[in-house]
Amino acid sequence: MSVIKNNDLLKKDEKYIWHAMKRYNPDAAPFVVKEANGAWVTDIDGNKYLDGMSGLWCVNVGYGRDELADAAHEQLKTMPYYPLSNSHLPAIVLGEKLNSWLEDDYVIFFSNSGSEANETAFKIARQYHQQNGDPGRYKFISRYRAYHGNSMGALAATGQAQRKYRYEPLGQGFIHVTPPDTYRSPYKGTDEEIGVACANDIDRVMTWELDETIAGVIMEPIITGGGVLVPPDNYMSKVRDICDQHGALLIVDEVICGFGRTGKKFGFMQYGIKPDIITMAKGLTSAYLPLSATAVRKDVFEAFKGTDEYDHFRHVNTFGGSPAACAVALKNLEIFEREGLVERSARLGEKLEEEMRELWEHPHVGDIRCKGLLLGIELVENKETKEPAAPEKLNKVIAACKNKGLIIGKNGDTVAGYNNILQLSPPLSITDDDFDFIVKTIKEAMLEI
Ligand code: PMP
Repeated sequence: MSVIKNNDLLKKDEKYIWHAMKRYNPDAAPFVVKEANGAWVTDIDGNKYLDGMSGLWCVNVGYGRDELADAAHEQLKTMPYYPLSNSHLPAIVLGEKLNSWLEDDYVIFFSNSGSEANETAFKIARQYHQQNGDPGRYKFISRYRAYHGNSMGALAATGQAQRKYRYEPLGQGFIHVTPPDTYRSPYKGTDEEIGVACANDIDRVMTWELDETIAGVIMEPIITGGGVLVPPDNYMSKVRDICDQHGALLIVDEVICGFGRTGKKFGFMQYGIKPDIITMAKGLTSAYLPLSATAVRKDVFEAFKGTDEYDHFRHVNTFGGSPAACAVALKNLEIFEREGLVERSARLGEKLEEEMRELWEHPHVGDIRCKGLLLGIELVENKETKEPAAPEKLNKVIAACKNKGLIIGKNGDTVAGYNNILQLSPPLSITDDDFDFIVKTIKEAMLEI
C-alpha cells in the first residue's frame, strides 16, 4: 500500500469505491483513514482526529486493540469456519456469555449485521405466532424517525421516508407511530404525560388494526440515528404493558444502545423492562469483525420445538456466528469487564451532561439530550419558535470541530427535511484527557455560530 501516492489513491477511490450515504461529488476528496489507535484516527496526510462517532457508533472499546486482532488470528488458525446449522466452541461460549450480560435466559441466533438481526427477529416473531395458535399476526409497529436497517424488512420498519422512498414497495405490514420526542411532541404536557400519550398511540393502533393481526413492536430504547431521542422514563414500561395486553412481542433493537453506550449493559436496562427479542450488532465486536445476534426469550423459542417438519426456524445464513467473529466478541466483552467500560460510560455520561449545561444558554441550542456516552444537541434558529437551525450552522460547528481535531455527526427529523441535531458517540474507552478535549472542542466550536 505504501507505494501508492495519496493522489493516485484518491483517483482510484473515485474510480472504484461507491461510498455509503454520500452524494456523488467529484470536487470533494473523501476522508481516507489509514490507521487508528485508542479514540484517534489518522488520515492519509497524517492528520489525527478524535473519532467522536466511534466509526458508525460501533468501536466501543476503541481502536488498536491487539488482543482482538490476536483472538481473530488464533481462531482463524484453529478453525476458520463451520456453519451454525451444527455448532462450534466460540459460538457456545459466546451464547453463554451473552446470557449473563442479558441477565436472563435467551437463545441466540447469530448473523452478520444489525439489519440481518432485525430481519431474523421479524421472521421469528411471525413464525412464533403461527405456531402459538395466532397465525394471523404479521404486522409490526415501529416509530417514525427510527432506523432499523437497510434490507427490505428492516427498512420497512425504519421511520425515515428519505431513506426509503426510492426503494418502495418494501416489506409489507409495517406501521409507524409517533416517536417519544419530548422537545417536538405533537402532544402537550409534562415528559411523563408525553410518554403516556406516545405509548397510547401504540395501544390505539393495535386496537384499530385488530390485535389478531399484530406480531410485535420494534424499538430502540433511545432513537439514536434519528436524533438521540431519550424517551420519558415511563414510556418503555408502558409499551411493555401494552404489548402484553395485546399479545404482541416486544423486539428491542440494541444495535447502537447495547454494550454500554447508554451507561448500562443494554439500553432496555435503563427502563426496567424485559424484551421478548433483543437484536444487537456493532458494539458486540466493537466492529473489529462483523457479527450480530438476535436473542430470543426461552418461552418464545419453545414454540419452535414442534415435531412437524416445518416447525423449526427455516432460516440460515452462511457467515453468521463465524468462529473468529465470536472469538473477537468474547475478547471484546472481556475488555469491557476488565476495564469497567459500562460503568465508565455511565460516569462519563453524567459528567458530559454536567459539562454541556452551560450550552443551554447558547442562543442556538434548543435541546440537549444525553444518556451515557450518547449526546444529541438540537440546534434551532429561534428558541421560542423552535425553527430548526439552517444546515450552514450545523456544518459550521462540525467543520470547526474537525479543524480542531474532533469528528462529530449530525442527523435529525429527516422526514420533516431537516438535519439539525449534532451527535456524539465516542469510544467508551476514551481517556480523561480525550474527554476533556471533546468537551472543550464542542464548546469552542459552538462559539462559531
Ligand atoms: N438498527 C439500528 C438502531 C442501527 O443504528 C443500525 C445501523 N446503523 C441498524 C439497525 C442496521 O445495522 P447494520 O448497518 O449493521 O445492518
